[in-house]
Amino acid sequence: MVLTRVAKPASVRDYHYVVVGAGSAGCVLASRLSENPANRVLLIEAGGRADSLLVRMPAAFSYAMNNRRLNWGYQSAPEPGLEGRRLACPRGKGLGGSSSINGMVYVRGHGRDFDEWEQLGAAGWGFRDCLPYFQRAESWRGGADAFRGGDGPVATCAGNDMARNPLYPAFVEAGLQAGHGRTDDANGFRQEGFGAMQMTVRSGVRSSTAREYLEPARHRANLDVMVRTTVDKVLLDGRTATGVEVRRGDGRATVRATTEVVLAAGAVGSPCVLQRSGVGPRDVLDNAGVGLRHELPGVGQNLQDHLEAIVRYACLAPITLNGTLNPVGQAAVALAWLLGRRRNSLGSTNHFEAGAFLRSDPTRPWPDVQMHFLPAAVRYDGAKAFRGHGYQVHVGANKPMSRGRIAIESPDPDAQPEILFNYLGHPDDLRVWRQCIRLTRTIMNQPAFDPYRGAEMQPGAAVATDDDIDRWLRRNLESAYHPSCTCPMGGDDDRMAVLDAQCRVRGLERLRVVDASIFPSIPNGNLNAPTIMVAERAADLILGKTTMRAPREAGLYAD
Ligand SMILES: Cc1cc2nc3c(=O)[nH]c(=O)nc-3n(C[C@H](O)[C@H](O)[C@H](O)COP(=O)(O)OP(=O)(O)OC[C@H]3O[C@@H](n4cnc5c(N)ncnc54)[C@H](O)[C@@H]3O)c2cc1C
Repeated sequence: MVLTRVAKPASVRDYHYVVVGAGSAGCVLASRLSENPANRVLLIEAGGRADSLLVRMPAAFSYAMNNRRLNWGYQSAPEPGLEGRRLACPRGKGLGGSSSINGMVYVRGHGRDFDEWEQLGAAGWGFRDCLPYFQRAESWRGGADAFRGGDGPVATCAGNDMARNPLYPAFVEAGLQAGHGRTDDANGFRQEGFGAMQMTVRSGVRSSTAREYLEPARHRANLDVMVRTTVDKVLLDGRTATGVEVRRGDGRATVRATTEVVLAAGAVGSPCVLQRSGVGPRDVLDNAGVGLRHELPGVGQNLQDHLEAIVRYACLAPITLNGTLNPVGQAAVALAWLLGRRRNSLGSTNHFEAGAFLRSDPTRPWPDVQMHFLPAAVRYDGAKAFRGHGYQVHVGANKPMSRGRIAIESPDPDAQPEILFNYLGHPDDLRVWRQCIRLTRTIMNQPAFDPYRGAEMQPGAAVATDDDIDRWLRRNLESAYHPSCTCPMGGDDDRMAVLDAQCRVRGLERLRVVDASIFPSIPNGNLNAPTIMVAERAADLILGKTTMRAPREAGLYAD
């Protein structure tokens, strides 16, 4: 792997494929496209190498996600549905992108989420088509079966703490006591129910796409990687993409792609690159002072995200992770991890080891609510929530109806775009959210927690009526950091579809987008796994290979 400096434009070679952004999707693409030595591939990343201890040690993820060097650090516009609050919108910056700073929770989504993609016009992206690519991407510690992969690049496993801390089994037991079911593998046949959560961790170390796809490809002479290099725009010759214009410090250069440019800059980055290139909605480009090259009204629209609420309790027994949340405790955790107990130490897990997928309403055709249980009372921003011991449930309504948008406000690639999620903009969303809080409380009040349950710290007993809950939600919901769907695939009759089902930008030649922006709708789960899956399948499409399908049509998921 050559880390090329962009100092002298004349020194930059031509490539067959130029991949923009080395994130969850970009590293997969660079690796798969360069497997054939005849393909010359360039991967361009705005950030640096992102391989510090904070990135590698799973338990340090809240430090990684709050580290300014590893993060674009975006903020939403004032959100009308959240009393005008601006929410943090972190995005990974560096090799691995968001897979280098995320919480490592491994969730594929429900099979029906992908069948929904196909219904929305993304032909060939139903669950039967996606399943083999989820399998190709992973090495599941439990071994391969009809649903799981056994020898793919990204390592997936359940945590070890489930057996050590009685609060995790208490959470699962409380779910059963509240009348819900159990699932043995939420990424297998049955998503719905209570059970162990899974994570992308290999032998106690974060399993990012940089580590698992890019690192093993570094010896290839046909793959170059440029770091600390920002793509300003795609170069268009008429309707054909011919390369990209890049910036590094004060230097500028152009890179030619003789076969294709593939944007993998993420749900914020990819629509912004397109808009700066003159591809997008006319009003957005006019407002930003960018000349229109190709009108595509859907670029940056259809923005979807997951919100998250934390329902937090004091714990009567001194068995939570709050006991380690002090400088001495954290140093001890880091030292144990460094000294080789990586596989089985408190540093080697993200601590989200139990969870649930539920329906907000029994009439819903598939689960739309996700819960993770954490045996600690903490905030994501790194601040300790309170003194003493506590535990909390992170609950989310995962099929929101609200839609937002991303719009550049200037041609400057370093300027933050307007990111308006329009959270709770659809009246149904608040209704589902209320139900999330009530469901969580019912579960946490079951006998399984009687030995542990102290006061409800948040929302707190005073938040009781629908109006109280609505007000609390508007003031306290935070992003779960899943922006997506801003360059969606869709059918020929959908004028807001940015891409066809081959990930090609509509109306242009030799230009594709492959990342979380291309989802037609947001799945019921976290987004790293489906983004990697999308990149795996798109690599086959780009290379003209026959795409895989699961051998059978029926019985691929439980309803
Ligand atoms: C803090 C955080 C926690 C999360 N937790 C989880 C979790 O626990 N589980 C889960 O499944 N998902 C989680 N997610 C979501 C998931 O990680 C992302 O949805 C997924 O990684 C997105 O992949 P991507 O390829 O679309 O974009 P990214 O991985 O964000 O990659 C985009 C890359 O493009 C680069 N880039 C952008 N613009 C340019 C440009 N102009 N020029 C050059 N390079 C550019 C960026 O620097 C970045 O490296 C989390 C995300 C965040 C931010």
